[in-house]
Amino acid sequence: MAIRIGNGYDIHRLVEGRPLILGGVTLPHSHGLDGHSDADVLTHAIMDALLGALSLGDIGLYFPPGDPEWAGADSLKLLAQVNAMVQERGWTVGNVDSVIVAEQPKMKPHIEAMRTQLATVLGVDPSQVGVKATTNEGLGPVGRQEGIAVHAVALLVQG
Ligand code: MG
Repeated sequence: MAIRIGNGYDIHRLVEGRPLILGGVTLPHSHGLDGHSDADVLTHAIMDALLGALSLGDIGLYFPPGDPEWAGADSLKLLAQVNAMVQERGWTVGNVDSVIVAEQPKMKPHIEAMRTQLATVLGVDPSQVGVKATTNEGLGPVGRQEGIAVHAVALLVQG
């Protein structure tokens, strides 16, 4: 099989007193995402999509929550490790696409910076990294601004 597809999903709770980091970019906001690492929910969902494409399990398997080694970890560094696992197995990223689901803040001013950061870590062109954003129309926990969720897919190609 010359191509593989994977999907990833993650959600983190919004709390006061934490930075809001998405795709390695710190966004100005009253709240940030809670988590054991830097809680970069976008990067986490992409990591799970990459792992999923090769049926390698999920990020909790490699970076267990609660493990002091990953406390406050820069998720871009974890993404680099996952990308290395992909490459060691003879695969490379064809493209990734993602959707951030958040009521606030406005994502548009930061999307290009996220794409650039993620593409740099993955060793691909920013044109191969899609980052989109939508609100949840006020519905559910994301709509009540209790958290931010991300859906991602990744296509891997051999070689
Ligand atoms: Mg996570």
